[in-house]
Amino acid sequence: MIKAVFIDIDGTLLDFEACVEESMRVGLTENGIEYKPEMLETFHRINNGLWRDLEQGKLTFERLLEIRWATIFEALGIDLNGPEFEKYFRARLHKSAIPMAGSYEMLEYLSGKYRLFAASNGPHEQQVERLRKADMLKYFEEVFTSGKIGAEKPSADFFTYCFEKAGDIKPEESVMLGDSLTSDMKGGFDFGMETVWLNLNGKEATEWLDHEIKSLDEIKNII
Ligand SMILES: [Mg+2]
Repeated sequence: MIKAVFIDIDGTLLDFEACVEESMRVGLTENGIEYKPEMLETFHRINNGLWRDLEQGKLTFERLLEIRWATIFEALGIDLNGPEFEKYFRARLHKSAIPMAGSYEMLEYLSGKYRLFAASNGPHEQQVERLRKADMLKYFEEVFTSGKIGAEKPSADFFTYCFEKAGDIKPEESVMLGDSLTSDMKGGFDFGMETVWLNLNGKEATEWLDHEIKSLDEIKNII
């Protein structure tokens, strides 16, 4: 019998993509630059390239932060100080909390039936603050973050900590709900939890998941 549901935050409860867009749009506007939607594509193209370089060891994270917005502004022909805008952008992003469609209804439904825990790869204070801002914190008994635990999903260390803290719940009595196959689904599955994948983009997958939903309201059909 299911007793608890562990829910990922970004891309599941909060719309991280919309938070990025908002932080960029407001930041540029406040600096006197007219925001256009195609600027977001330039951001993603350059940002993705820099993260690839970082993963391949060609770039440090500090260096990425130094050059990211300067590179984007150069491509867009915008005359602003890149490193300064980077600080502003990150501060704003860390406070941005735009809900995913159906998230409140789902939390209302689940909180009446199960113990709820948030489970996120991210800095602790930031994630708690964003949940509070979105008025979602009240639904959770505990917010588990990689920042606090010192281990990330999908590692067993992350989930071991969660279950020790939660007490009196076995993995097989719990559900892991999230949008990431490689962190939420793999992590939950390997730990013996029931997994529910939020697949908003119609991707194909068969590994690590017990159930798949196309929108959050479909959770009612499963638990
Ligand atoms: Mg996610």
